Parts: sequence; C-alpha cells; structure tokens
Amino acid sequence: MSMAAETNLTDKKGEQSNGLPFTRDDIAKTTPMMAQFMETKLQYPDCLLFYRMGDFYELFFNDAVTAAKALDIALTKRGTHNDEPIAMCGVPFHSYENYLTRLVKQGFKIAICEQVETPEEAKKRAKQEGGKALVKRDVVRIVTQGTLTEDAQLDNRANNYLLCLAQKNLNFAVSVIDISTGSFYLESVFEKDIPALIERYDPSEILLSENLRDHENLKDVLTHHHQKLSLWDQSRFDEGNGKKRLLSYYQVGTLEAFGDLQPAMIIAGGALLDYVELTQKGKLPHLERPQLIHHQSQLQIDASTRRNLEINKTMQGEKKGSLIHTLDRTITASGARLLSNWLNAPLADKGKIEERLNAVAFFKQSTEKRDHLRDNLKSCPDMERALARLSVDRGGPRDMQAVLNALDVAFYLKDFLKSDRGGQKIADDSLPESLLSILEYIKKADQLIDLMDHLERGLKQDLPMLSRDGGFVQKSYDPALDELKDLCDNSKKTMLEMEARYLKRAGVSNLKIKHNNVIGYYIEVPSAQAQPLFDDDEKFFIHRQTMANAVRFTSVELSELEDKMASAADKALGLELEIYKNWLDKIKQALPLLSMIAKAVAHLDVFASIAELALENDYCRPAIFEDTRFDVEQARHPVVEQHLSAEENFIPNDCCLNDTESRIWLLTGPNMAGKSTFLRQNALLVIMAQAGFYVPAKKAEIGLVDKIFSRVGAADDLARGQSTFMVEMVETAAILNQATERSLVILDEIGRGTSTFDGLSIAWACLEHLHDNNQCRSLFATHYHELTQLRSSLDKLACYTVKIKEWQNEVIFMHEVIAGEANRSYGIHVAKLAGLPAIVVKRSQAILDKLESDQQSGASKSINNNELPLFSQFKEQEKDAIEQEVLDEKAQALQEKLDQIDPDSLSPREALDLLYDLKK
Ligand code: ATP
Repeated sequence: MSMAAETNLTDKKGEQSNGLPFTRDDIAKTTPMMAQFMETKLQYPDCLLFYRMGDFYELFFNDAVTAAKALDIALTKRGTHNDEPIAMCGVPFHSYENYLTRLVKQGFKIAICEQVETPEEAKKRAKQEGGKALVKRDVVRIVTQGTLTEDAQLDNRANNYLLCLAQKNLNFAVSVIDISTGSFYLESVFEKDIPALIERYDPSEILLSENLRDHENLKDVLTHHHQKLSLWDQSRFDEGNGKKRLLSYYQVGTLEAFGDLQPAMIIAGGALLDYVELTQKGKLPHLERPQLIHHQSQLQIDASTRRNLEINKTMQGEKKGSLIHTLDRTITASGARLLSNWLNAPLADKGKIEERLNAVAFFKQSTEKRDHLRDNLKSCPDMERALARLSVDRGGPRDMQAVLNALDVAFYLKDFLKSDRGGQKIADDSLPESLLSILEYIKKADQLIDLMDHLERGLKQDLPMLSRDGGFVQKSYDPALDELKDLCDNSKKTMLEMEARYLKRAGVSNLKIKHNNVIGYYIEVPSAQAQPLFDDDEKFFIHRQTMANAVRFTSVELSELEDKMASAADKALGLELEIYKNWLDKIKQALPLLSMIAKAVAHLDVFASIAELALENDYCRPAIFEDTRFDVEQARHPVVEQHLSAEENFIPNDCCLNDTESRIWLLTGPNMAGKSTFLRQNALLVIMAQAGFYVPAKKAEIGLVDKIFSRVGAADDLARGQSTFMVEMVETAAILNQATERSLVILDEIGRGTSTFDGLSIAWACLEHLHDNNQCRSLFATHYHELTQLRSSLDKLACYTVKIKEWQNEVIFMHEVIAGEANRSYGIHVAKLAGLPAIVVKRSQAILDKLESDQQSGASKSINNNELPLFSQFKEQEKDAIEQEVLDEKAQALQEKLDQIDPDSLSPREALDLLYDLKK
C-alpha cells in the first residue's frame, strides 16, 4: 500500500514522529534551519512537506526520496544528520503546481510550508528578540485530492468529491462535499449499499476512522479504493462535536434547520468540516447547507451495474464512449457537472421527473429561446469554482471577473425567459414550475447590483492572476489611487527630463538613467565619458559603482525622486489591496446568493442541452407511470447508435414488459446478433427517463423503477481475489436477493463461466426465481436454448430472438428482436469472422456436427477419438479443401473488386494503380 493509503493526517494536537529518521531530541543538535524543518515535519509526518526556501520548495529526508521518484526529478544532498547525508530535492516555486498535481494525483498529501515573514522582518525581529534571523515559516495549507480548488488541477466538467464515512451503532452515513463548488450532501446508507454509494459519487478522497477501515464487510470496497483513503483517529468521529461543528459553521441554533439528521450523519458531517478546516488551515470554504439525500427518492444503481452500463466510463476506463460523454451537450462547466450528477443519480419520484421533463419540453419547443440561451451561456464562466477559490482566499482578480461575467449572464437571463420575439412579456403561468423557481433564484441577481457596479467600474481589461502585485484596478475607479498612479507616471516623465538635463550638464554624448533591483535608479555613462561627471563643480553627481565598461552615479535629486516614487507605488499597491479586500468582503457576504444563482444557471444549461440532444437525435418524451409497465417502441441504444458509421443504420426495437402479458423476456439468438445491445438499451432508457431526459425511442411508457440491476459480460476481479465465475455469481446473488417488483433486471448469459450443465442449471433456477419470487421486469439473454422450454411452466415468460438471414452459407445479422426462439448460436460463424485459423474453424464445425448427431441419436456428449480423426489426420484430410477455400475466397474478393470497376471513368494513372492493386 502506498504512503497515501496509510495517511493519518495529524495536526499540532496529534503530533507524532513514527517512521521519521529524526526525533524531537535531534532538533537541538542541528542547524537553525534544519531544526525549523524538523519541528514542522514532526507535526505533519504523513504529508510530504514542501518547505519554502527562496524560489524553491525543498523536500528533505524520506520526503525527498519519495518525491524525486514520483516526479522523476534529481535527488541531491544538503548537510548531514547523524553523519549521514540528508536527501533533498526541490521544485521551483513559480511552477510548483504542476509537480503538486502529479503528487496529489498519485494519492500523496502535501503540506505547504511558506515563509510567513520577509527577511527584513526576520532581521528586525532578531534584533529585538536576540538570536538568529531565520525567517518564520508555517504550514499554510494541506493539499489533498479531495480538497483541491485550482482549475489547473481539476477536471472542470466533473465534481471533485470528498466523502466521509461514519458509523453510529449499526447505522452508517456519509457526508460528501465538493469544496471546489460548495456542494454538501448528507445521506444515511445501509452497510450493503456502501459500495454502490461510493461508486455513485466516485469521490477522489475518502475520509474514515481507522476502526472502520478494519470493518470486515467493508474490506473489499476499501481495498479497491485504498489510494483514496485518509484515515483519522476514531475520536474525531463524535456526535457531540459534529453537532457543535455544524451549528457553528452554519450559525444556526438547531440542527432541525437541516431536516431529520441521523446521528451517523451528524458525525460524518462534523468530521468532514473538521477535516476541511484542518487542511485549509482554518480558512473554511463556502459550503451550501447540507442537502439530505433519501435513497428512496433515487433510482438505485449498484456498483457493478453502474460499471456494466458504462455510465461514467467505459469498461476500459475511458470517458469517451460512456453514457454521460455521449449525452452531454451542456455549454458551461457547472452545467456539465450537474448533468453528470443527474445521470448518476436518476430520480424515483414521478412528480420530480415530470418537472424536469416539462422544463426540457419548454426548451425543445422554443428553438429561439434555446439557441439564445445557449449562445449566452458561452460567455458564462465557471462561477462556482471561482467562488470556491475566493472563499478560501486563494482566488484573484480573474476570479472576480468570472463572478462579474456570470452575473452579467444571469442578469440577462432573468428577463429573457419571459419575453417572446417581440420583447412582450410572457405570463408566468406559461412557464413550467421548475423554470419559474429557477427564475426566482436568478432574479435575486438584482440584490447584487452594487457588487456588479463596483467590479464593472473597478476591474481592468487585462487582469493578473493574483492580487498581490496590484495592477488590476481600472483608472478613474478611485481618485486617490489615480493620484498615486499619476505620481508614479509623472515621475517617470520627470526622470526623462532629468536625463536630458544631466546629459547637457555633463556635456557627454551618452548618459542614461537606468534601474535594477539591487541599487534602484542610477545614472550610467560609458567609462570613457565618466570624467566630466567626477569633475562637476558642485559635486552634483555622486559616484556609486565602477563597472568594466561603465560608471554609475546618482544625484540627490534622483534619490529623492526615487523615494517619492517608491512611496507612491507602495501606497498605490496598499490601496489596490484594500480595494480588493473590499470587493472580496462583498463577494463573501453574498456567497450563498451567488452560489444559488450559479446553480440556477447550471440548471438552465442542462434543460436546454437535453432539449438540444433530443432534437438532434430525434428522442421522445418518456411518459412516467406509477405502475410497473415498461413499453417502448422503436427504441435505440443511445451510445451504440452514435458510434455506428455512416453506412450502418441502428435497427430500433420494441420491448414490452408488464404484469398482464409477459414480465420476463427470454432472449435467445446468435452471437453478434445484438442481444447485449438490446438489453442495455432498455436499461439505459430507464436511467435517462428517470434522470429527466428524453429517450431514443418513438414511444416510451415507463412505470417507475426503484432499482436497476445488470449482470452483463464477464470480468475477473483479480484485485479482489475473485475469479470470473465468482464475480458472476456474486453479482447474480445480489440481484436475486435485492430485486423487488419495481426493479428492472437485465441478465446476460448467466452461468456461462462454468461447465455447460452447471451453467444451464443455475440459469434455469435463476430464471424461475426471478419469475416467481422477485416478480420484477427482466430481460434474460442466453445461449442455453434449452431454457425456452420454461415458457410452458412460467406464464409471465415470453421467448424472443434476434432475426438473422442465412444467405449463400453466410449469416446476416438483422439486429431485429422478434417473438420466437433460436436453435443455433452461429458461434463458429462469428469465430470465422473474427479470423480464427481456417483449420480451427473447420475442425470446430466437424466436432459440432458430431456432437449434434450424437445428441439426436441419444448418445453421450463426450467424444472419443476413435469417432473423430486425430487433429493431425484431420489437417491432412482437409489440406486441399482449405487451400481451395482460400483460393475461392481470393477469387471472390477479386471478382467483387472487378465488378466495382467502371473502366470508362478511370484516368490512365488510376487504371495503372488499380492494376498494381489487383496484382497484389
Ligand atoms: P454475443 O452473444 O456474442 O455477446 P450479442 O448478441 O450480445 O453478441 P451485441 O454485442 O449486442 O451482440 O452486438 C454486436 C454488435 O452488433 C454491436 O457491437 C453493434 O455494433 C451491432 N448491433 C447491435 N445491435 C444493433 C442494432 N439494433 N442495430 C445495429 N447494429 C447493432
């Protein structure tokens, strides 16, 4: 396990020294600087300590060894400890973010130790206190995967969740925050559902107590996420403290303000706030009031189903090709994050789903409004992330500009929804409920006019990233600042005049007033022209330095001007920083309002994007019912459909599951016919519909689904020590134990991972259990054609197959699902298509023929070699036939090419090329 997995963040209260190559006793024996390093490191033994020294962050001892390896940078030495050289490596301060990101992505936690006073301040202090002038340093932030706020380190279209798991007696709960957007959720969870919940949030860091890490039933899931774990002492997970924490953070008198919080939720919420405070060194970011998530209000999707259905990532771990990637048409980053949340946690409440669908319908109907909105959103920056940075004082003028631009967009949007083409007002009641409540939030932008006015008048065009060096306040915003800036500018003009005057006075041909950081402003002349300046009657020029080719002077007048300039520049910077602080205070005061407006705009983006997607792909509005019907006509797979090439058409299919006719469809059919695609498309339709999306179908009537289960494809989970078949059975067990009458189950090839009879028997029994016990809507695809016999004993079971055409010994997949049963799998045909050697294909066919003829005659299925020629003999026998087949295939390919040629349309050059091609 990596260091990150074992992390046990401590603060000053929980100082420890285990594992470090030095102890507190060593501090007295080393240099002042190393003593300061050791002292700090002892407080943060589990973090890599980035120790600021001038223009570098240096790492020492084991930290240096670890970081040098992880970053592939040079490992050097500095001084000795106990006669051993101290390992050291460093990263430049100006480009440290890149290194930091790489370390954080690898699961390390980093304590940033800054110089918290200037060398001058240190000298002054040393004079007063006596002793060495060592610059004071302190850890200003602990950077962990779950507490990042920097754009460069985050995917702007995805949330960056930090999840905390806590337990009280037998109850579990999680608190989940995204510091970079201010989202905060509390949710109680059954122990068995913890893996599904973790998969749903896909957090980048998981905080939990050491005791929970060792919990027997959580071992699997925690091992799987071991790189993300941050372990904390059990004492941090306390209900009393949690309550105090929540009350004080939100400045409320009672927790009832948040709804019915279970003790485990309070513990999880409080511990998380503590952790954030610790990592941000007391600067608590803005977090919305915690939103209570009730698991009954959502469509439950377990971890393996989520993976199988490729909602966030494909089985290969790619985003491209996932459901979310395929459906995302949002314009803004916060819209993209919201859309991803919706698809990850679809609803289970008819009213709420319909509210979303109504808003989508509004934008689908009004192309003008949709286009207009989407056009405007293009200029809407990521206000949520800008606010998050500003709230922990990590933002800058550009973040303020982002807030202003986003508010400008919101300001425009608050009126546009309600006006038609001619600018006439649309009555409120013609807007769907969900859009009306969004408008209510957006309208609150009116309360921020003062802030907008300041930022609009105050912020310059080209803004620096950080406020610290000034240069971001626009001229004429503050007369006092203008005066100081004018003084600086005028002084520069004065200096030019001075230069001309001095040139005359000295009577030389080359004299310049220059500046450097060491000696400030000076007069420079080439050495050969220096004498007149030395000889000045009034000793006007004061000698400062003699260089190889030049001599430098100053004058009383120049020094005075320099002082005046410096003080004006200092004052100007001070004033700018004061102005910045003023704006920041205003923003901080308005944080809850601003983040609500940002969320409201994100909602508009998502509604309009779903409408856009629906129009682009001809999706229909699903009708949601309280019963358990599932009736879709001409449905398509949203992802496969978009990835087919131009020549391939996706073949739509119907599917109807209900209590009156058939609740389970048993699907048999050849390999490659499209069974898995059919199964998944129906599951995805439910997810899309309940998330508030239009769906790829002509008609879709969906009775609310409470849980969706899929067991598709086979994969070893060697990391968790499970074989393919074991994984298959674990997943199947979960389905049979949990599916209710409201659930939708798709099962693909159950029992394929074991011997034929074992597999068939398991599949048989599972089907019966689903039919009689679970009584849920199910789609069951299988190659065990024997299962079709069950239609006579299971009255809600219907048999379906996928149509194929056999033509000239070839099989053509029609991808059309029809009532009926398949009697063959055409596996050998697919094997041939896949390029298995011709002899293997032939031999397989011979074995199959033999098995089938034995079965017909009632003989046993085992083959003894006396009945089939040995492989070596078989090869010999078939040699000529195979050669002939290869020749035939080549001849056929040649013929097909020749048929395509139209000699009259070819140029001589093309004809020659073609001839070469045919010869090849
Ligand atoms: P196997 O039994 O071998 O797993 P299968 O019957 O489950 O095969 P799929 O994997 O669903 O078959 O589909 C095979 C390929 O056929 C898909 O990759 C897709 O490109 C294409 N396909 C599936 N369904 C359709 C359809 N309805 N229209 C067009 N192409 C389709």
